[in-house]
Amino acid sequence: MNFDAITDLETLRSAASGCHNCGLRARCRGVVFGEGNPAAQLVLCGEGPGGDEDRLQRPFVGAAGQLLDRILACCGWERFTHTYILNVVKCRPPGNRTPTPEERAACFPILQAQLRILQPKIIVLLGSTAVQTLLDENGRITQMRGQWYQRDGIWYMPTYHPAALLRRPEWKKPVWHDFKLVIDKYRELVDPAHESPYYPLNARAEQGAHQVP
Ligand code: URA
Repeated sequence: MNFDAITDLETLRSAASGCHNCGLRARCRGVVFGEGNPAAQLVLCGEGPGGDEDRLQRPFVGAAGQLLDRILACCGWERFTHTYILNVVKCRPPGNRTPTPEERAACFPILQAQLRILQPKIIVLLGSTAVQTLLDENGRITQMRGQWYQRDGIWYMPTYHPAALLRRPEWKKPVWHDFKLVIDKYRELVDPAHESPYYPLNARAEQGAHQVP
């Protein structure tokens, strides 16, 4: 399937819904394309849909997604207003296993077309699969998180996946560190007046502004 000529997200969504480029599609309910504001400058990229996402045909709606929404709220963002949320693979891997390199490669043209149309300024990479697909195929999240990578005019911030955060609450602190860098970059590139409840513009003057929420 060729997605190169498609120039809008809704046409891409319907083209992608017929994709059978790998074996995942036959074993799930459907293609979870992504959602958010098509004009958003901030994209969040996860790994692939889980059971709740497959059932509801929406990204990040299970426990990890609810945590992601809370993180976004701490930053002053709402998924449909300020972000576009998508995954490396659009079909649920059985048992929520990590998608194979072949499955990632089969789905990559859709992801590539989404990013070409969205043209975000900032992409937050949630976990290793997103890092290895969009930045460095041998990249390790523990080594790469918390630092900016700039490629073709896009700023990438790797951080831990919210599902990992549910298992390891001690990672809440590094994730908040990483999202504060994203807020800084968002103020620099998108909206200088962006307000965040836990990281206000005049953070230095506000007591406790840098604490983990
Ligand atoms: N984990 C992901 O990587 N993506 C989702 O959409 C849900 C859970």
